[in-house]
Amino acid sequence: MHFIDLVAQQSRIRSGIDRRIKAVLDHGQYIMGPEVAELESKLSKYVGVNHCLSCSNGTDALLIPLLAHGVGPGDAVLVPSFTFFATAEVVSLAGAKPIFVDVDPTTFNICPKSLRDVIERAKRNGEKLRAIIPVDLFGLPAPYAAIHEIAKEHDLFVLEDAAQSFGASYLGSKACSLSNIAATSFFPAKPLGCYGDGGAIFCDDAGLKSIMTSIRVHGQGRDKYENIRIGINGRLDTIQAAILLEKLTIFDDEIKRRNAIATRYTSELSKIVETPSIPVGYTSAWAQYTIKVKNRDRLVGRLKERCIPTMMYYPIPIHLQDAYRCLGYKSGSLPVSESLCKEVLSIPMHPYLSEQDQDQIVKGIKESL
Ligand SMILES: *Cc1c(COP(=O)(O)O)cnc(C)c1O
Repeated sequence: MHFIDLVAQQSRIRSGIDRRIKAVLDHGQYIMGPEVAELESKLSKYVGVNHCLSCSNGTDALLIPLLAHGVGPGDAVLVPSFTFFATAEVVSLAGAKPIFVDVDPTTFNICPKSLRDVIERAKRNGEKLRAIIPVDLFGLPAPYAAIHEIAKEHDLFVLEDAAQSFGASYLGSKACSLSNIAATSFFPAKPLGCYGDGGAIFCDDAGLKSIMTSIRVHGQGRDKYENIRIGINGRLDTIQAAILLEKLTIFDDEIKRRNAIATRYTSELSKIVETPSIPVGYTSAWAQYTIKVKNRDRLVGRLKERCIPTMMYYPIPIHLQDAYRCLGYKSGSLPVSESLCKEVLSIPMHPYLSEQDQDQIVKGIKESL
């Protein structure tokens, strides 16, 4: 049994993938070939925003908007502590300081109450706050209505980290359209993944898009040998764009399958473990299906004996990572993030998980507890 099965997906679309890759080999435009523009146009329509800018990975998709907004030394950016490291790392790469916020114990997403408390404290300490980066963790969009209200009060921009939520929605709007600007990742294990690294940025603002287009290629001006600002090498490869175009044709069906599996898991497991809670008005892209258990190590061991793979997303909250020791956070400062790291367990989730495997997983968990 696989935790994520990319082989089953590939056998479904192999001939289309081969055709798309062959077209790139034939025209030979490996950098910024026609597939890149075709993908950007299809993705912006899919999400329902004016502009999509593809880029090299999800981390750069977060970094480029920060650079475009001029976030740098002396600035601070609010991020949840219970997320993948890159969400905070990009703030440091831009030269600014991440300030960590606690999350909600049932949705795992940034907690508006903690956000308010942290902002008040940061302002008393004289921090120059610039932005909030909410994360749509495990595929579920963050509580944007509350976040935008707080952002407006404090004149902050909101950068949606939708690395795990491409394909999700909130009140009928797609993830990646829920803020001023959004970033997603096409790392192979994400809901929409390519066969390497890839990412994309989404926004409605044409001026912002044009600055980000420049940053994506070394701060280019009229061409790449005229440089008007400091940028990065942040392009998406043409071959990866070609692969994503093929995968996009089956993507909605895959999201449906993920939702069907999640519904089944929840109905079978909700009486014995804490299952994910999806608030009214939200749909998840189910990048992960994550339960909470007290005796996690024992359950992991018993599932392993039955050849059922599990993962811990995430074992250490970012505010307690060694890399951020310099910020001086103490254990106990963000209690929900810290306790989640001890209790969360993600079980196999992908669109091709057979009913037999689902049965085995449910049975394995029931009999192990
Ligand atoms: C995967 C991920 C990223 C980074 O994406 P890469 O493509 O791996 O650079 C950022 N934030 C979150 C929440 C992620 O899960």
